[in-house]
Amino acid sequence: MRLVIGYLYPTVMSQYGDRGNVLTVIKRCQWRGIDVEVDELEVGDRVDPDRVDVLLVGGGADSHQRLVCEDLLRVKGEGVRRAVDEGAAAFAVCAGYQLWGHYYKTATGEELPGLGIFDTHTIHRAAQTGTRLDTITEAGSVRAVGNLVVQWGERVLVGFENHGGRTYLHNGAQPLGKTLAGGGNNSEDGWEGCVYKNAIGTYLHGPAFPKNPALADHLIRAALRRRYGDIDVEPLDDGLEIVAHQQALARALARPGRWRQLWGQGVG
Ligand code: GLN
Repeated sequence: MRLVIGYLYPTVMSQYGDRGNVLTVIKRCQWRGIDVEVDELEVGDRVDPDRVDVLLVGGGADSHQRLVCEDLLRVKGEGVRRAVDEGAAAFAVCAGYQLWGHYYKTATGEELPGLGIFDTHTIHRAAQTGTRLDTITEAGSVRAVGNLVVQWGERVLVGFENHGGRTYLHNGAQPLGKTLAGGGNNSEDGWEGCVYKNAIGTYLHGPAFPKNPALADHLIRAALRRRYGDIDVEPLDDGLEIVAHQQALARALARPGRWRQLWGQGVG
């Protein structure tokens, strides 16, 4: 068996180690004897929906989102939409997640149109409150920064978030899960992330996959099933991954809800 990863904007949108998600899919497939190819899809490269099995995109600053936004809509949009609609697995983190919603309004109030795969929109907290970001202190005051813990069905996901955008789910949009610690989508409604078919959008950096192996396998399984029918993935020895998961969880829960509390009070 073979899977093709479509890795969107590897040089522009791979903030906070999100590239680790690509490496994790590669390793977890190779350990099971599944070949993996990676198509690095930069600005100007189209997405072939019949070729890609797993689409991955990471985070980036507002300026990075501005750089890729036009390309995402005009060059990659059709391929990404078709792949996701036909059941390809996808994982979009933070800035990537924001641009897969309907739009993202940046810190300076500019509206960047998104793909609309997720029925969401995002507004930077500075644009909501009219805060100018002239100093590092001001810039920091409007961000949700810290550990993020999410109840995902029966499981708990751990990661790290750092974003100024607040994402709102529209009616009927399915969240990834409930925010147990951290800000998540918007620090107010308690939701984190969004799911559409086999596509997941989330604020979980970290990178997310190495310390949430069940999440990685969920997407690998979905990709394999689209290509090869009703098969399952062999379990792996996840001893190290589980230790990493537990360490991150213990740290996050040592200060539960800190950012939710601060941000919810309108800091900045
Ligand atoms: N620029 C976006 C925000 O601040 C995304 C940040 C990120 O990807 N970490 O909300």
